[in-house]
Amino acid sequence: MMLCYIAIGSNLDTPLQQAETAVKHLCQHPELSPQRRSRWYCSEPLGPPQPDYINGVVELSTELPPHDLLAALQHIENRQGRERNGHWGPRTLDLDILLYGNKVIDTPDLQIPHPQMSQRNFVLTPLADLNASLILPNGETIGTLLAQLPAGGLSPVETHSTVVTL
Ligand code: ATP
Ligand code: CA
Ligand code: CA
Repeated sequence: MMLCYIAIGSNLDTPLQQAETAVKHLCQHPELSPQRRSRWYCSEPLGPPQPDYINGVVELSTELPPHDLLAALQHIENRQGRERNGHWGPRTLDLDILLYGNKVIDTPDLQIPHPQMSQRNFVLTPLADLNASLILPNGETIGTLLAQLPAGGLSPVETHSTVVTL
């Protein structure tokens, strides 16, 4: 079993509902065992002008190899009406593999750790909710990376708890 972290993002068609539905679809997948999710955050978009995002991170374990995990996530994106029209454009659902155990993967269609994660507040903050002392394959800890980023542009939707057990 491999412990993985998946980033969820949505900014179209009732984003909070899309994010919750994505968690439901992850839980229903026979090969995926989601364990916990971070609370949801509202974040200001990168890229072209577009609505704010809902972001969060799910911790799951799976025996699927990395590329099969990517295919499973893309299948869920497609089920939720994801249209692939331009980099960083608005979307109903984006599921990115942040970490796959401690593995480093560098193929044309899959790079793990996710190449941008260390620069993204909206990824590191929910990841730190789940495990701030998590260590990347290169030895950096999530908490340390987060402390190096400018704060802001991010607000928790749920303030009562930081983690939800799935
Ligand atoms: P970003 O990667 O900067 O967050 P994005 O999520 O908007 O951008 P997409 O259009 O969703 O990018 O995905 C483009 C391609 O990225 C996917 O088809 C997939 O093959 C590739 N990809 C590479 N590494 C990963 C990863 N770790 N998780 C998900 N997709 C990945
Ligand atoms: Ca993304
Ligand atoms: Ca993506």
